[in-house]
This record gives sequence, structure tokens and C-alpha cells, in this order.
Amino acid sequence: MIKSLNLKILLIFTVAVAIGLGGSIPITVYLFKDQITQSIQNEYAVRSWLISDVFSRLAPTERGLFLKQLSEKQKVSLWIYDRNGLRYAYGSTSMPNLSDGDIRRVQDGAEVVRRTSVLPIPTSLHMGFPLQTADEQLALVIHPERSNILLLFSILGALILIALVIGSLKFILFTRIVVKPLKILTAATKKIAKGDYNIDLQTKSKDELGVLSEQFQQMAHEMSQVERMRQEFVSNVSHELQTPLASISGFVSILQTDGLNEAEQRRCLNVIRHESMRLSRLSENMLRLATIDSNHHPFHPSPVQLDRQLRRIVVSAEPQWSAKHLNIHLELPKTAIHADEDLLSQVWLNLFGNSIKFTPEGGDIFIELQSGNGVIGVVFRDTGIGIAEEDRKRVFERFYMADKSHNREAGGSGLGLAIVKRVVELHGGRVEIDSAEGKGTAVTVFLPVM
Ligand code: ADP
Repeated sequence: MIKSLNLKILLIFTVAVAIGLGGSIPITVYLFKDQITQSIQNEYAVRSWLISDVFSRLAPTERGLFLKQLSEKQKVSLWIYDRNGLRYAYGSTSMPNLSDGDIRRVQDGAEVVRRTSVLPIPTSLHMGFPLQTADEQLALVIHPERSNILLLFSILGALILIALVIGSLKFILFTRIVVKPLKILTAATKKIAKGDYNIDLQTKSKDELGVLSEQFQQMAHEMSQVERMRQEFVSNVSHELQTPLASISGFVSILQTDGLNEAEQRRCLNVIRHESMRLSRLSENMLRLATIDSNHHPFHPSPVQLDRQLRRIVVSAEPQWSAKHLNIHLELPKTAIHADEDLLSQVWLNLFGNSIKFTPEGGDIFIELQSGNGVIGVVFRDTGIGIAEEDRKRVFERFYMADKSHNREAGGSGLGLAIVKRVVELHGGRVEIDSAEGKGTAVTVFLPVM
């Protein structure tokens, strides 16, 4: 089993060229067999005239010697037939490949050629030519024992061999160009498998391998980001779990001490209840995000009456906003949309929840519905604490909280806006946030009408 790609390509190249050239020569010769046979026949016809001329002028006693010398020098087998049969035979081939009928036709003046193989090389031909002497009509059969064609074939073979050697050397250089980036890529995959995403493939070429390297580099970059996010996520989750758990265990210890009055006990229990609810909300939100992320979330778009849905959210949160004496202003014209009702309801709950959470007592919250150009805009505007500019870019990140201590107290975990963003994106929309510190925040969700 050949392991090197270099060697494999070289082998394929050599075999392909060898088969191509080696096969093309006999095929071409076969295709032109008639023309080649004719050409050889013409050449020997000329020779036969010369033989005939000398033969007819020689005394019968000298003819045998002449034919013998001719056969040896010219490396041909010669036969001469008269009306009674074979008269002379010289050369290494025992019998000509011509039938009695053929011989008779030659004696009558015809030229007859017979081949002993499919390829029309001279050594496969037996050629019969009429030989006229002063007193009789003979048949001369010539069969070349050696041919220059074989020399030509040897030269061609050598040429193919030299071409293969030179071609292979060039091919090795060429395959190196192809194989080198693949080797670099293999090294890079090994690095990634070990958890090192810091790879630099430095590709300049724009061919398929260049594109592959570029995509690979891009993939490694994205994988490193995913890995960084995963690590951040794990540390965030453990931190978010740690804080309420530490608080619960602390207050349980206090409860175990003797001599606590009823009010103190109630305070401890309240904190424990508050913290466990926070834990429950956190796991609920994490689960929700994980399901949306996994793309296995059942996404069931249906016609939704948006104004009615928003009113229901406001009514359901009444205990929270009335406890803070907040004024809610609604501007909700009748608007219908095609969306997943449950997921969308989570978006409004999170946004309205934030407005309530971050708006001081007696503040105002405005919820407005606008539509036009195939887009519906839902605005949650409040007169709350606002978000600093450097925090505004990051509030959609998971677990990001602008004011951690204050926010945790309010039961937040930094997942609300991440959920909002994912759900809105799932609907093909986008979220914009506009805020001024100390003045208030406006979050607008844009959704396509669909
Ligand atoms: P949380 O559960 O902490 O509210 P979110 O993802 O909903 O998490 O919000 C992320 C952060 O964005 C919050 O911690 C808060 O600092 C800021 N934020 C979100 N909405 C508002 C708002 N209406 N007013 C002021 N700050 C906000």
C-alpha cells in the first residue's frame, strides 16, 4: 500500500503515459495497416524487378548462388516456383505463407501479399511477385527476416522511456507543489486535535487548495472563538450557581444557630426562597437558550395578534409594576404577525421585565407598536437608569450584566437579552438598543411581517 500521495500521483502518471503511448503505436499501425502494407509491398516490388532483371540474365547454373548471396546479404527468405513447383529456396524461413493458388496467380502476373500477424510490419509479410525470364514465367516470393521498423520501434521505445523519466522528474516537482499545502494542512489538523487553534497557513494561491487552506484557517478561528465562549460560559455558569448556593448555605447555617427570633428566621427563609427562585430562573433560562441554540426547538409560526399579546404581558406583570408605582403607556394599534407565539411572548416578558427592574419608583414605561415597509417595530422605552455606552455593545452577550451587584439583587443573570436576540433572529428580525445613562433606555425589536 503506497502511503505517499507524491508516489501515488507519480505512479498514476507513469502508468497513464506508458499505457497511452504504448497502446497508441500498435493501434495507429493497425488502423493504417493497408497503407503501410502497400508501401512495403511497393518497396519490395522494386527490389523484385531488380532481382528479376539480374536473374533472367544469369546462366541457370549461376542463379542458385546469386539467390543464396542475395538472401544472406539482404536478410530475406526467397523462394522461386516454376510450373512444376518449388525450384529454389533460400533463407531461414522454411516455407512461404502463400497457397498453391496464390503461387499460380503470381505466375500468371499478379502480385500477392499475405500477412502472418495483425500488424503490417515487413517481417510479417510474404510477398509474391511475377518473375519473367526469356523462356518461362516464374513466381518469386520474398519474406524479410529483419526489418528497420523494429529499429524504429526500439527508438520509439527509448523515446517513451526518456520522456517518462524526464516527465516523472518534472512531475515530482509538480506534485510537491500540490502535496506541500496538504502536508501543512495535515500538520494544522493535528495541532487543532490537540486543542491548539493558533494556526497560520499563510496561503497566497487562489486555486482550490488555496481556498481550502483559507477556509480551514477560518474554521480554526471560529473554533477558537467557540472554545473561548465555551470556557467563558462554563466559568459564568459556575459563578452564577456559586453565588446563590453560597448565600443559601450561609443562611441555612444561621438558621441552625440557637436563639434566633421569629423575624430573623423569616428574613433568612426569605433570602433562601429568593435565591432558590433565582437558581430556578437561571436553569430555566439556560435550558431555553440551549434548546433554541440546538436548532431542535419546535418553531411553530402562526398568526399572532401582537397588540393583544403585548396587553396580556402588561396585565400579567401588574403586581411588579404597580408595586413600584410605575406608569405604563401603551400605544398598540391592531397589528397581526406570523410568528411563534410562545417564543415571542418570552421576548416581551424579558424586555418588559428589564424595564420594570431598571426603572426607579414612579417612573414611566412606554410600549409602542409601529409598522411599515413590511417591518413591524415593537418599542419598550423606559425612564430608568440607562446603560453606559461601553456596556451597550455587550448587553446581548450571555451572562453580561452592566451593574452586577445591583442586578443580581434584582434577580438577574444576564441571559434575558441573549434569549431576546436569539428568538428575534430566529424570526428573521433584529434588535436595537438606544440608551442614555440616568435618562432611560429604548429597546426596539424589528420583525418582518412574514
Ligand atoms: P438580566 O437578567 O440581568 O436582566 P439581560 O440580558 O436581560 O439580563 O440584561 C443584561 C444587562 O443589560 C442587564 O444586567 C442590565 O445591566 C442591562 N439592561 C437591560 N435592560 C435594561 C434597561 N431597560 N435599563 C437599564 N439597563 C438594562
